[in-house]
Amino acid sequence: MSQVAAWGAPRPGAPLEPLFIARRSPGPRDVAIDILFCGVCHSDIHQVRDEWGAGQYPMVPGHEIVGRVRAVGQDVRGFAPGDLVGVGCMVDSCRTCGPCQRDLQQHCHSGPVWTYGSALADGSGTTQGGYSAAIVVDQDFVLRIPPGLDPAGAAPLLCAGITTYSPLRQFGCGPGHRVGVIGLGGLGHMAVKLARSLGAQVTVLSTSPAKQADAAQLGAHAFVCTREEGAFTRHAGTLDLLIDTVSAPHDYNAYLGLLGVHGAMALVGVPPQPAPLQAFALIHGGKRIFGSLIGGIAETQAMLDHCAAHGITADIERIDIRAINRAYERVLASDVRYRFVIDMASLPSHPEAR
Ligand code: NAP
Ligand code: ZN
Ligand code: ZN
Repeated sequence: MSQVAAWGAPRPGAPLEPLFIARRSPGPRDVAIDILFCGVCHSDIHQVRDEWGAGQYPMVPGHEIVGRVRAVGQDVRGFAPGDLVGVGCMVDSCRTCGPCQRDLQQHCHSGPVWTYGSALADGSGTTQGGYSAAIVVDQDFVLRIPPGLDPAGAAPLLCAGITTYSPLRQFGCGPGHRVGVIGLGGLGHMAVKLARSLGAQVTVLSTSPAKQADAAQLGAHAFVCTREEGAFTRHAGTLDLLIDTVSAPHDYNAYLGLLGVHGAMALVGVPPQPAPLQAFALIHGGKRIFGSLIGGIAETQAMLDHCAAHGITADIERIDIRAINRAYERVLASDVRYRFVIDMASLPSHPEAR
């Protein structure tokens, strides 16, 4: 067991503050990782504020982790000290249930062990995330960061990247498909880059007119400001797939109207409150709505390899850990271009501390 420096919330909704957390001594199958960068996902904010309920505190968030292997256990194959690796939203699962055997660890019947906020098997507390100096993870839940990807820009791929890649793949997105991305934030900007890399025609549907030029730079072919009067009628029936990344309550029925016949809407954003859904919004046009939760470990590695092949990383603003509470406010104000990534060298007792 070792104590490592971290930042976390001592109680629901409290600002994040410096603290120390325990990390287990690496076992034979473990990879010990010094964390270099950690992305700031809106899910971190929902959970720090206990908007989904059942939060455990103190809570150290962070599930977009890129780091360097410090040590490996004797049974570890495929990772060696010095390797650049990633850790996403999960650090373990039962491995025996149907979903686990189909490489869908995110849907494990016992619930995957989340990178933070899951009970530890020995009853000694909960898992703690990546806003910290180091982490110890079973080899099967460690990803390889392919050479050529900028380590800081790759961190958001571990959640924002896989969460948007997976529904695009589930839909079979490719050339000729018209994809609408709802919300141009951390997930949304990855959805634009990934849909574009798969050959789709991409439209951004945003509440922020100031993001129009960015949308084009990210690869979108069109931009619709959904606050503009008549936007939903002008663009009715023009899209095949919607990726809804919105974190706040909004009218699903209105967005469904943008789909053509047999179009599909993938929900990945998680507004804390339920929202009404009209049967007619789906029945007319034979539309589908489906949820998607990150992606399995094999699919996450495939996404990283796809990003390396296409030169895709997140557009990031690197921050010092001391700026984290201000960064949360800016995410909540839709003022992030397009992912904050914490430089862990800013943690005072980090091995690479300045
Ligand atoms: P984010 O960076 O804050 O982006 C969300 C975007 O939604 C904003 O930039 C904004 O874009 C838009 N938006 C915000 N409030 C809105 C409103 N009231 N009406 C319409 N649009 C609004 O957040 P993120 O990190 O991308 O995460 C997005 C959501 O996905 C969160 O709920 C998060 O918990 C969830 N999530 C789910 C999974 C999963 O596995 N399913 C994984 C990760 C995250 P515009 O300014 O362009 O309108
Ligand atoms: Zn996330
Ligand atoms: Zn399982």
